Amino acid sequence: METEDLPLLGETLAVEFANTRYGVGPESIDFLGSAARAALWFGAGPWAQDARDLDWPPAAHRRLLGLRDAVHGLCAAQVAGARPAADDLATVNAAVHGAPRAVTLWWERGAYQRHEVRRGDPYAQLFAQVADDAVALFGSARREKVRRCPGPGCTMFYEQTHHRRGFCHPSCSHRARQARYYRRKKAEEAGAA
Ligand SMILES: [Zn+2]
Repeated sequence: METEDLPLLGETLAVEFANTRYGVGPESIDFLGSAARAALWFGAGPWAQDARDLDWPPAAHRRLLGLRDAVHGLCAAQVAGARPAADDLATVNAAVHGAPRAVTLWWERGAYQRHEVRRGDPYAQLFAQVADDAVALFGSARREKVRRCPGPGCTMFYEQTHHRRGFCHPSCSHRARQARYYRRKKAEEAGAA
């Protein structure tokens, strides 16, 4: 698997994270399904430079998948208009608590600078970063803009930041148009026969 194969849309971190669980049934792909995939995914985005060097031992990898499934659960509940699962909320909140954040004051280059620091191991810091983003998304009116892509066979979530955006990606919109075209053509052929 290469970086360009990853389902990255430029969404907010929580949504990108949920989208690592792609598809349903035998066709599904877990883009965090192994330590190597997790390293590739966290190395590909602009949000987690520190994450590039992590090697994802089994315990950390299990926690990663647990958090991912919880954030995926929140997205799925949101688009279904359903109440989120208590376990999913608990998992996200535990990740927030796993690496408390503090903003500290420094004097640098002749001026005050604010530095955000987190406590906790690098994995906990990363999970807290993702969980914070989920709290910011679902804890605000932005949650109303979370959509599931209606593209053929697509299961991606996205945040509808523009009212004309109807698909996760232009390629999905293109595939939907193609599918409509073939259905119409087939119907015409069936009608003519
Ligand atoms: Zn799509």
